[in-house]
Amino acid sequence: MDFSDAVPRPRAAIVGGGPSGLRAAEILAAGGITVDLYDAMPSPGRKFLVAGRGGLNLTHSEEMAIFQTRYRGGEPRWPGLLAGFSPEMLRAWARDLGSETFVGTSGRVFPMEKQSSRLLCAWVARLRAKGVRFHMRHRLVELSRGPLAVFATPDGRREERFDRILLAMGGASWPRTGSNGLWVDVLRAHNIAVSDLRASNCGWEVAWHPEFLRAAEGMPLKNIVATAGAESVAGELLVTRHGLEGGAIYRLGAALRTMDSPTLHLDLKPSQSLEGLRRVAHEASKVKRENSPVLKIPAAWKLSPVARTLLQWHAPATGDAAAFVKAFPGPLLGPRPIAEAISSAGGVCWRELDKSLMLQKLPGIFVAGEMIDWDAPTGGYLLQGCFSTATLAAQGMLAWQAGNSGQEG
Ligand SMILES: Cc1cc2nc3c(=O)[nH]c(=O)nc-3n(C[C@H](O)[C@H](O)[C@H](O)COP(=O)(O)OP(=O)(O)OC[C@H]3O[C@@H](n4cnc5c(N)ncnc54)[C@H](O)[C@@H]3O)c2cc1C
Repeated sequence: MDFSDAVPRPRAAIVGGGPSGLRAAEILAAGGITVDLYDAMPSPGRKFLVAGRGGLNLTHSEEMAIFQTRYRGGEPRWPGLLAGFSPEMLRAWARDLGSETFVGTSGRVFPMEKQSSRLLCAWVARLRAKGVRFHMRHRLVELSRGPLAVFATPDGRREERFDRILLAMGGASWPRTGSNGLWVDVLRAHNIAVSDLRASNCGWEVAWHPEFLRAAEGMPLKNIVATAGAESVAGELLVTRHGLEGGAIYRLGAALRTMDSPTLHLDLKPSQSLEGLRRVAHEASKVKRENSPVLKIPAAWKLSPVARTLLQWHAPATGDAAAFVKAFPGPLLGPRPIAEAISSAGGVCWRELDKSLMLQKLPGIFVAGEMIDWDAPTGGYLLQGCFSTATLAAQGMLAWQAGNSGQEG
């Protein structure tokens, strides 16, 4: 969209300087809009920087037919969202900023430098060069029709009217990065439905036996299959003092959250069937009893030391040991606090958003990124979801400007 010099350029506010807000800023600036970007923190992109510590998994290389099934919440919208800004486009975007990407063995996509600070610096510099103005230490505290935004700043309360506003204030994990979810009340004050923000991609708590913890804390349970309800994930889990962490349990979080008594069943020997284990146990039955205080675990099963210790301290003394190995029932106390989670589930309900992600109750105000009620596992799906929703919302904002420019003129 091009605005002629004769007409004053429309002015847009973006609230939130994470990847979603920054992505929207570049589209709006390229579309001829004057962009003011506000963030509560002293600098933008703090969670993006934290994500860089883990290698910055930007997106995933798997087939789109599978990719689009990774999202929960707003399912019918994802094929269109991902077509609008695809994983390939995200890789091209990074390349354009000087960061080539590569596909890791798991299919995940990373920038060559495996961190985010260089990419973020280049991104912010490019936005400034395109005229985007950054206003840090501005926390949005109120919104009104108009649209009007009220910020709390170090110099006091500041009210500003804009032509359009795009909200990209993130979820509620890692609040020290600025994403604290306090915006929920700002939107609920307008009767906008927001589902509660809950920890996602997070560890779950287990009441470990102190002796098990003494032996296994910080060690991985490798080559296991974890099952929650009807869903199973192969991978590994890390034993922590609080419970279990790792990709397998992150991926099962959505299923676990629906359970009254969340329980994870672990297959500690996926390479062997139950019958196979029993047969091996029978053959080994003449062999000496294992040095276990509670359960007879044949050495011929070749369990990892952590799996063996888990059974020793957490399986009943009597019973079918092979059945425990194939479906070890791990009752979970609950998820770790949202402050520790990689992402949060919940957010602005899809029914509040039109096809361009504009709030139907607050025309002219659009929403993008983790603020919306969707969830996805780790693997690059989170950042991809932020880029794709921000692209659609910013393009929707440009189109809405176009549609209304006659009335405004
Ligand atoms: C440890 C960790 C590792 C991660 N690793 C990956 C990864 O490798 N791959 C991946 O895909 N995803 C990863 N993520 C998730 C990813 O970083 C987030 O999904 C993404 O940053 C969300 O982007 P966003 O722009 O929607 O929100 P955010 O990045 O959370 O940004 C929101 C911004 O809004 C600002 N803000 C909040 N409230 C207000 C307010 N009231 N007024 C003004 N400003 C406000 C905040 O200060 C913040 O700057 C990781 C997350 C964590 C915590």
